[in-house]
Amino acid sequence: MTDLAAFIRSLPKAELHVHLEGCITPEQVVAIGRRNGVAPFESVQAARAAYDVSTLDDFLAMFAKASEVLLHEDDFAEVASAYFDLAAAEGVRHLELMLDLQAHTTRGLAIGTVFDGLARAQRHASRNGLSTSLIVNFMRERDEEEALALLASLAPYRSQIVAIGIDSAENGHPPRKFTRLFQEARMMGLGLVAHAGFEGPPEDIEEAIDLLQVDRVDHGNRVYERPALARRLGHMGTALTVCPCSEVELGVVASLAEHPVRRMLMDGMRPSVHSDDPAWFGSITENYIALAQESALTRSEVLQLVRNSFATSFLTASSISRYLAELDEKIDACADRA
Ligand SMILES: [Zn+2]
Repeated sequence: MTDLAAFIRSLPKAELHVHLEGCITPEQVVAIGRRNGVAPFESVQAARAAYDVSTLDDFLAMFAKASEVLLHEDDFAEVASAYFDLAAAEGVRHLELMLDLQAHTTRGLAIGTVFDGLARAQRHASRNGLSTSLIVNFMRERDEEEALALLASLAPYRSQIVAIGIDSAENGHPPRKFTRLFQEARMMGLGLVAHAGFEGPPEDIEEAIDLLQVDRVDHGNRVYERPALARRLGHMGTALTVCPCSEVELGVVASLAEHPVRRMLMDGMRPSVHSDDPAWFGSITENYIALAQESALTRSEVLQLVRNSFATSFLTASSISRYLAELDEKIDACADRA
């Protein structure tokens, strides 16, 4: 492992873009599937082969198939706890877990099964020093009425939820479809995020900002196709959660070396690095290391990304200050040893 990789592993960081369903490993999909009498794959080897996808459509199909093994509270607790443990071991101190609730409710699961299972994992994480909260994502290919009804039914679980977002299929499903949903969520005091400009056009990023008034854009990798929009995001200091390995593996960014993250930093945007779907594309630290090595990021660029991860989280201002101070202490300690 290089010095930079060791340095990245040692840094306290926040993870803001990771999907629960993207944490289901090939081993879990087989073990949990067998336990529940739902066996989408015959073996771990077959699951691993099926996880090898190269387009968003193929990925979404596999993501749905893997999600179908989750039936009981225990299953949700197990998958979330396993990733919380891995993330904590890699220095993650705060994690905002995304959840595609419709991937479960449309299969007939009760909302409580999902949230009670995740609450158990969140208590487990808290005992390990990892703070967590949930972001409920609504699928862009489904309609707004369904999303509004689901949002209204989340009241009993409000304390676990920090924000809502939109994700899944982008082309043909623009953010403007969800303007009322986001207005409603804003009135409830929830944070707002949106997957935009991943596969879909840069206009989606503009709609997410202007119509949905999001706090963060998830991905946003296509922003430079519209230079005026990129300048605007730079002036606004827009937060972007980039996920370099999924963006490259699903073919929306040509290579890690050509990832726009450095440009985003230079232009005043506030990107940070995340795993997206760690069972497919590697953990948060693996994403940082791959990006840093292939894009030849400097230590100070890596540190700015890590600082952004706390500063653009939904933590309170005092918690953000505390984590940034912890990060500074760590950097000072590294400098003393150098
Ligand atoms: Zn995502």
